[in-house]
Amino acid sequence: MAHYALIFVNSIFLIYFGLFLLSSIVEKEKRAALVSLAILLFLSLTLLFIGLTSVLNSFYWGLNIIVLATLAVIFTPYGGVASTRIIDTQTRFDERDIMFARARYVAGSDAYRDYYRRHPQRKKTDDVLRAMPNLLSPGGRHYEAVAAKMADTNFTLTEKLIPFCQGTPATEKMSVPAAEATAAVKRLVLSLGAVDVGVARLDPIHLYSHVGRGPGGYGSPITDEFENVIVFAVEMDFDAMRHAPKMPVVVESSKQYLEAAKIAINAASFIRSLGYNARAHTDANYRFMLPAAAVDAGLGEVGRIGYLIHPKYGARVRLGAVTTDIPLDFDSPVAFGVQHFCRICKKCATHCPAGAISHGAEKPVRGVLKWSTNQEACYRYWRTVGTDCGICMRVCPYSKPGNFAHDVVRFVIRQNPVARRLAAWGDKTLYQYNDWQND
Ligand code: SF4
Ligand code: SF4
Repeated sequence: MAHYALIFVNSIFLIYFGLFLLSSIVEKEKRAALVSLAILLFLSLTLLFIGLTSVLNSFYWGLNIIVLATLAVIFTPYGGVASTRIIDTQTRFDERDIMFARARYVAGSDAYRDYYRRHPQRKKTDDVLRAMPNLLSPGGRHYEAVAAKMADTNFTLTEKLIPFCQGTPATEKMSVPAAEATAAVKRLVLSLGAVDVGVARLDPIHLYSHVGRGPGGYGSPITDEFENVIVFAVEMDFDAMRHAPKMPVVVESSKQYLEAAKIAINAASFIRSLGYNARAHTDANYRFMLPAAAVDAGLGEVGRIGYLIHPKYGARVRLGAVTTDIPLDFDSPVAFGVQHFCRICKKCATHCPAGAISHGAEKPVRGVLKWSTNQEACYRYWRTVGTDCGICMRVCPYSKPGNFAHDVVRFVIRQNPVARRLAAWGDKTLYQYNDWQND
């Protein structure tokens, strides 16, 4: 009887590590594949020799009891996952301060004069950054002419779609119950290619205070926006992300920005056809901080990396949004232990070639406790390589592809602080990235 129990337990481990080996091979993760192969061989030998001698059996039982006890600990939910982030009166962020807006200020223009009159300390850094080869241009370390054209075409098309983001609603307003409208919009967004969608009331604190880029004109105050927000995520292809920081990453980002724009414009047009106001928010045409609204809409949490961490796709998503006045049912924020896991993990900070991600604890930023990234250092690296890098997104343990082997780990991370420590240790041990991959 004891033999059968041992065989049963070992067979379960064997199946899990078999699946783990398969996923490691598909993901081209050599180290993870070798470790799981070694464990598989050990488990196979165990099965072969079970029952051979009582000494061996006691040894195998000893090992299994340790493993089962560990599993019992890591699968037990305790310790909570809630994130407390708001610690003071919050203030709005000025879009003119983001690096993408600053990179566009042309010397001698009104925007340039105004910005550096108010922020003279940033002028030298920004002048140096603007003088570097532009993204997708010859001179970038990873420049490839054809791939650069592909990405540029996607970005250009996304920008050309901006006039379609806004429009006049149909004159006749259709009466649609909130539940029905919410279901219809979500169905539409998912059918168009989004992997997740949520709805929230748009917290005015998430609005940028002033326009930094896009329509509306530099410096225009952003006073209000429609009260409801639909936020959705599109997935970044895992295989493309493996090439970070090389060209396939920026081709993939540009493609997903374009996809997000098409989805948002379609959804906004649909809502306007029902007689309500709706505005699509697309790349270089946002009026609020999307990650913050995505958190409110229940799409995930914001991690050390500064991006949204989705429970299934991790940081490997791009966001799109529609603001509207059609009555909708709201989703609730979700918490699955990201804040605590990020305090332990720090993998994005370790691998960021620009040293742009903090290794330290969260700090108060405009009333919210969070990690802030050094956007100048990050952007300098982008201009050096000529792409949008993506290394942090790629190495984040949450960004692994969805399959049984990784879903089990994602589930375990939610459970308790011990599980998070073990998962962070396991990820560091199994998935190592060399310096050459970061250049
Ligand atoms: S995108 Fe690259 S440079 Fe920027 S924070 Fe991430 S790893 Fe660092
Ligand atoms: S790499 Fe680690 S520390 Fe960074 S965002 Fe992902 S989980 Fe958090």
